[in-house]
Amino acid sequence: MASHPLSLSFLLLSVLISSVSSSSQPIIQLPTTTDRKSNIDDDLYCASWHLAVETNNAGSWKQIPTRCESFVQDYMTGPRYMSDSEIVANYSLAYAFSVEIGRNGKDAWVFDIDETLLTNLPYYQAHGFGSETFDENSWDVWVDLAEAPAIPASLKLYNELKQMGFKIFVLTGRSENQRNATAKNLLFAGYTDLDRLILRGPSDEGTLATVYKSEKRSDLVNEGYTIHGSSGDQWSDLLGFAVAKRSFKLPNPMYYVS
Ligand SMILES: [Mg+2]
Repeated sequence: MASHPLSLSFLLLSVLISSVSSSSQPIIQLPTTTDRKSNIDDDLYCASWHLAVETNNAGSWKQIPTRCESFVQDYMTGPRYMSDSEIVANYSLAYAFSVEIGRNGKDAWVFDIDETLLTNLPYYQAHGFGSETFDENSWDVWVDLAEAPAIPASLKLYNELKQMGFKIFVLTGRSENQRNATAKNLLFAGYTDLDRLILRGPSDEGTLATVYKSEKRSDLVNEGYTIHGSSGDQWSDLLGFAVAKRSFKLPNPMYYVS
């Protein structure tokens, strides 16, 4: 009796399946459930760690958690960093529009430089995105190059504020002996016509950033300026005394300056 064509096909299919299932490992190795779970856990943990850092709930911190190194790299080099910076600039601008600018030229806005007006991403890209211990020598070489680009949203904000009539004070923790390189870099990045560049002089050496910046803001207040807004990537740019009426915190998960 001739076999039924359908049973023959079924037989062939069974042979094929058994030969595939007995063959060696599949070419593409999919992550195991455990791998996937630990990646999700790291992403979740690092997003929460980042929020704690930005809100200053983490307080003073020295090192990016090892499990968050790739999170920080992805954040800094992906679209999120630029998007977060834009949101900060947008809220700053919305507030600036609500300020009534007087005719006495005393309405001020204070900007920090590093990771506020300028991004040092090219430097940090070569130094583990902040995961390496800070090295003053290589940092000074980078500063002298005067090649840090502008954060686009900050440059736009800067130009809008100038047009609105704010006096722009740039207050940085960089040292007075870096004035030329810093001024050159700001110009190179497009920050033209700033009203004053304030750097750490010899008498400011060793002063905590919060105190140093507060003292310089206090000097401005004593000169009759009203500090309406202040922009910085560190809480030490924004806290202390003679604080601005509104402070705007830019993101920075790479390092903390107390
Ligand atoms: Mg800074």
